[in-house]
Amino acid sequence: MRDYENDKGTMMIGGVSTVEIADRFGTPVYVTDEQILRQNYRAIHDAFAKHMDTEIHYACKANTNLAILSILNQEGSHIDAVSIGEVLTCLKAGFPAERIMYTGVNVSDAELKALVATGCRINVDSQSELERLAKIKTDMPISFRITPGVASGHSAKVMTGGKGAKFGIPYDKVIETYARAKELGFDVKGIHAHTGSGGLTTEPFSQVVDVLCGLVNRIKNETGIQLEFLDFGGGIGVPYKPQDPECDLDELAFEICDTIKDETEIRTVALEPGRYIVCDSTILLTRVNDVKDAGPKKYVGVDAGFNTLIRPAMYDSYHYVALANKFNKACTAKYEVVGPICESGDYIAHERVLPDPEEGDIVAVYCAGAYGFSMSSPYNSRPRCAEVLVNEGKAELIREPEEIEDLWRHQIIPERLTR
Ligand SMILES: *Cc1c(COP(=O)(O)O)cnc(C)c1O
Repeated sequence: MRDYENDKGTMMIGGVSTVEIADRFGTPVYVTDEQILRQNYRAIHDAFAKHMDTEIHYACKANTNLAILSILNQEGSHIDAVSIGEVLTCLKAGFPAERIMYTGVNVSDAELKALVATGCRINVDSQSELERLAKIKTDMPISFRITPGVASGHSAKVMTGGKGAKFGIPYDKVIETYARAKELGFDVKGIHAHTGSGGLTTEPFSQVVDVLCGLVNRIKNETGIQLEFLDFGGGIGVPYKPQDPECDLDELAFEICDTIKDETEIRTVALEPGRYIVCDSTILLTRVNDVKDAGPKKYVGVDAGFNTLIRPAMYDSYHYVALANKFNKACTAKYEVVGPICESGDYIAHERVLPDPEEGDIVAVYCAGAYGFSMSSPYNSRPRCAEVLVNEGKAELIREPEEIEDLWRHQIIPERLTR
């Protein structure tokens, strides 16, 4: 978890006062520090690139803001996209199609046609998808997502690689599927697996790479296809709590690249970090509307709920919170930080000690860059909030807050109901 500068009791991000950002752009607001984003990308890229050719496929479902994508495009990132919408968004942000790899599940024929038209790379998830893609185009490079039988993650909801999962080519069908792709005329380039999201240990990655290396060699021996890249997916966790350890990237990169180079003739390693790149680049600022002493519990009612940040309500996730305008004050009591949504499951943080919160204070929610804005919704008819980019002392709007009118856009009242 990152420390922020304290300027006479005010939390600073990227050289800008959080209180000034809240006043100028309104709340709730997501605030991203461009320098941290660039540092995170470079840290993970460089850790692997010193061992072998490396492609970082940023898993853009974590955060698809066009400005953030443009920064990662400047850094030379590749993209892991999971929908045609994400592919088109990344093309709009300037990514060349060759640097976008699509990995979908239960993909429709219409989506496959649209993907082929963009020229992006396709990572095929099932035998059905392979046969249906073959009817559209075969002289193209492809790869396969396989089910490795290794699962990991911060919540059962985001574990994707276990035996019997809905994702990927089942392990015992992998060889026949590669053989079939060759027979259909595809240029089969790689193998991919993704175990899940947000684990902090290196073990699942080593396990999945062992499984993939074994398959690379069997594919070579049994079908004659020499694969060029191995993609071991994303899921590299980040510390959300002050005492959480960081993932040791150097150890991870060394172990993985060593195994790949020792055991296979693979030339390029690919990985798909989403959370790792964007998570701690961004905080959510939300203002205190209401403070309530409800007997056994004290509530701090803020203007962001699970419509703005769903992770606590959906996954029981922990996000560190601080009062941004009382940044060096001593804490006075324990509070529940809750939002404006009419459900008791609507909370941002449980049982946190805070320094005497009052109406008008600004709560900073840490590590909000991954699966924050991208999972937000206008539930309870609260329009989605703004996003701001800070860089070396300057703040810029990168997404306008939605307006009430936006809630009605696309809705149609049949004429007969208006009479
Ligand atoms: C979600 C996802 C990722 C990224 O997971 P993170 O935990 O954000 O790193 C990578 N690959 C695939 C296929 C995914 O679905």
